[in-house]
Amino acid sequence: MCGHLRSSDVGRKATLAGWVSRRRDHGGLVFVDLRDPTGLMQLVVNPERAPAAAELAKEIRNEFVLQVKGEVVARSPETVNPKMPTGEIELQVDELEIVSRSTPLPFQLDEEGVDESLRLRYRWLDLRSERMQRNLRLGASVVSAIRRSMEEQGFIDIWTPGLTLGTPEGARDFLVPVRLQPGTFFALAQSPQLFKQALMVGGFDRYYQIATCWRDEDLRADRQFEFRQLDLELAFPTREDVLEVLERVVVASFEALGREPPERPFPRISYAHAMLRYGSDKPDLRFELEIQDATEVTRGSEFGVFASAASVRFLVVPRELSRGDLAKLETFAKEWGAKGLAYLVYGPDGDVRSPIAKFLSEPELAAFAAPPGSTVLFAADEQAGVERVLGALRLHLGRELGLVDETREVFHWILDFPLFQLDDETDRWTFVHHPFTGALEGHEELIEADPASALSQHYDLIWNGWELGSGSIRVHRSDVQQQVFRAMGMTEEEANAKFGWFLEALQMGAPPHGGFALGLDRFVALLAGEPNIREVTAFPKVSSGSDPLTGAPSAVPAAVLAELGIRVLEKPT
Ligand code: ASP
Repeated sequence: MCGHLRSSDVGRKATLAGWVSRRRDHGGLVFVDLRDPTGLMQLVVNPERAPAAAELAKEIRNEFVLQVKGEVVARSPETVNPKMPTGEIELQVDELEIVSRSTPLPFQLDEEGVDESLRLRYRWLDLRSERMQRNLRLGASVVSAIRRSMEEQGFIDIWTPGLTLGTPEGARDFLVPVRLQPGTFFALAQSPQLFKQALMVGGFDRYYQIATCWRDEDLRADRQFEFRQLDLELAFPTREDVLEVLERVVVASFEALGREPPERPFPRISYAHAMLRYGSDKPDLRFELEIQDATEVTRGSEFGVFASAASVRFLVVPRELSRGDLAKLETFAKEWGAKGLAYLVYGPDGDVRSPIAKFLSEPELAAFAAPPGSTVLFAADEQAGVERVLGALRLHLGRELGLVDETREVFHWILDFPLFQLDDETDRWTFVHHPFTGALEGHEELIEADPASALSQHYDLIWNGWELGSGSIRVHRSDVQQQVFRAMGMTEEEANAKFGWFLEALQMGAPPHGGFALGLDRFVALLAGEPNIREVTAFPKVSSGSDPLTGAPSAVPAAVLAELGIRVLEKPT
């Protein structure tokens, strides 16, 4: 292979095949950089040594496919290229064949800043680039490390269907019409959730799968319609058992890439603590900048905004911010729903500058006291609003002020999520994770009595502020599962229509069980240092929801639709 030859091979005959990366004509001698998946090799076509090859070499253009035979020779000292692993040698060509030609290229493979839509339209070319070769190969190494780790830990790979009944993971389903039963539809699995739970009831106590999942959601940097998860489930686990499986998988993945793995055990943080201190359930812990609470201190405040707010919290920014900075931050905070941004600026001598200082009492000022050269920023509102605004400000400032330590890899767990959240549209309780998540021990009674306070056994894995995946210890009793459905406002009929088969399964000897799903594409993107999952996906879709390569999705002939019993309505104008 091109990238394998070294100076120890000098004198050997070699046959190489690959793509032309570059061709240089030096009046007589033609130099070609030939590329295959292992690297580059310089070819020299000398008209005196190989006249026929030299004649043909005139036709060579970038990305032609060649097959050549020749001899490995040492380069003269002044032409050695120390930057190339094969830079000490070259191949003196004896025979050359143009195996395949290329039309003029829409972009060059080593070109910087090629428009992404062009790259995706000509993905077969783009895939030859160093970046895509590296990313997809890295992804493959990670998948195989994960499989090894899972199998070492006693898990077996079981395939579950893609065509199924709707699974509630909080997104819309992709529907697939069924020709044999016109008018009915499969949903593409949003995850194998209920199947893996059924496997537990079926006596497979350690299941895993690299599962494809489909969710009809708006596409983003970390989201595609279809994506892969390391999906797993185990019987009789403690929460710690599940977390340990995942930590081992993460460590194995780092090791497979020859990287220093993060230290185990990963820190565990409660959801309540994360929301209070970081205003986020996926905090980036590569920098401090913690949020502090001032609700108690400001109860009787003369500053009306504080006194009347359900929650008052603040951040101490280690900079003396200017009026201009503060104005920009206020605009930012308003985009996140704040009404304004109160602040106290501490000058170099500790003097306070602020329009609100005069309204604050001694105890208040004492509570907010910050070192000289810093700024205190407040949010006062409903608790959720305060968390949202300060969480966003914290992240923004962390990045803007360079507080994020980019050299650190911080993995951590968020535990003890609430079981339910209020759905603003329906004003009903809905699940935070999914309705099969068990309540925290001691919280079972609250499921129906006080859903707002019930905590769950749901956990998330976070890496540098990205959510890598979620899981939970499940409900394994049919009566408790029914309680959850009732708390969500579902009638018995509704619950039976949607999940009757599963409730029945839970009544026939269901072991306690729990599991997790790790978003594989996100994990690989982060490992590859890529900003979005399209860069680690061979053929991704773009934000409009189409595939730039094939042009899908497409309209379907009326006859095909008729067979499926489907008529397409006119597009609304
Ligand atoms: N099915 C869940 C998900 O896709 C993961 C789990 O609870 O195991 O997020």
